[in-house]
Amino acid sequence: MVTRKSDAQIALMRRAGRVVAEMHAASIDLIRPGITTADIDRLCRTVLERRSARSNFLGYHGFPAVACISVNDEVVHGIPGPRVLRDGDIVSIDCGAIIEGWHADAAVTVAVGAISSADQVLLDVTKAALDASIEQCVAGRTLGDIGAASMAIVKTAGFDYLREYTGHGIGTAMHEPPDVPNYGKAGRGMRLQVGHVIAIEPMVTAGRADVMTLDDDWTVVTADGSRAAHFEHTVAITDDGPEILTASS
Ligand code: MG
Ligand code: MG
Repeated sequence: MVTRKSDAQIALMRRAGRVVAEMHAASIDLIRPGITTADIDRLCRTVLERRSARSNFLGYHGFPAVACISVNDEVVHGIPGPRVLRDGDIVSIDCGAIIEGWHADAAVTVAVGAISSADQVLLDVTKAALDASIEQCVAGRTLGDIGAASMAIVKTAGFDYLREYTGHGIGTAMHEPPDVPNYGKAGRGMRLQVGHVIAIEPMVTAGRADVMTLDDDWTVVTADGSRAAHFEHTVAITDDGPEILTASS
């Protein structure tokens, strides 16, 4: 069942969202050639502790970290560890926080040092796809409108997008109904109402979107080795249109 959140519940999700935004801002400040993906995870843990927030990633189906960190051809669900980031890498940080039982979830893909113009376009297009979907988060529009807006931008740019993984409702659990695909037909699917809160998260590949999971049972990589980007926000449908709960204050 898709639930509608009260203003008070959305206020708690906004607090959780601000923590996630702080985790991302701190990570972006830290990221440079020579650091490890474990360094980013450690920093995210300190932000959670400072804000007395819990992690919704740590222990999720046994996940061992507070952030999924995915580099280059890794699309999502990368496990932080000793990997050293190098000049020209792109790195996705997907993380979340819980405040008083209410969840937020967001992702960003960041350049390490100087990246190629092709990689910069991949990042810009994926971010634009997310922004276009967020614009559709208005009561009366549909999940199809959200997916169609994202898909149009990705296709026009000549990139591809994952079908196997989608955005999702979010609230007292990180993953609630409905699924929020990054594709669709305008006007189709569930109609959005004030109080719905969803996480929208386009996953875009420079090559084909065929993916496989590595032997660690987590890391999703492109089958053709092409690079991928992932941007995500937790968004509330309000009387005034979309509110990005994972934006910095
Ligand atoms: Mg998510
Ligand atoms: Mg996420």
